Amino acid sequence: MSKERATERDNSDHVVPMPKSWIKYKMRESLIRDWQDRWNFLRNARFLFGIFLEVSLRRCFGDFYINQILTTHGSFPIRQSRFFGKSSLCICGLDEGTVSHCIYGCLRFCSIREKFFPGNFSVLGFLDLILNKRACQGLREIVSLLLCASLA
Ligand SMILES: [Zn+2]
Repeated sequence: MSKERATERDNSDHVVPMPKSWIKYKMRESLIRDWQDRWNFLRNARFLFGIFLEVSLRRCFGDFYINQILTTHGSFPIRQSRFFGKSSLCICGLDEGTVSHCIYGCLRFCSIREKFFPGNFSVLGFLDLILNKRACQGLREIVSLLLCASLA
């Protein structure tokens, strides 16, 4: 075969395999993009979506109490009413027992907020409180008390 003719061929005799690392990277990129698309348009978990707009493989919260805040599941009166037919009102009687009320507004937990939360907690988001080690301890106490009350 002449030199000129060898360059005229449409097909190559040798296929250079793609590196595994590149394939893994592309698959991961595609999975995260699909996950983000689903996350953006999912009808459920909008509370959590408000906290975490972007999906991430690096984020992991394994704390039983904190996960009840993030998922709005568990011991909050509003959730207990939905699944167990209990009153959705907070024990204080001032508002619905939502996560926001229990964490930011319920008078029952003023002393916990004073002890553990920073002074400007009312302008901080849930994630700010969760990432603040001391405030996170207060959040755990609040959820723990709610859990005890919900089991009574
Ligand atoms: Zn309350």
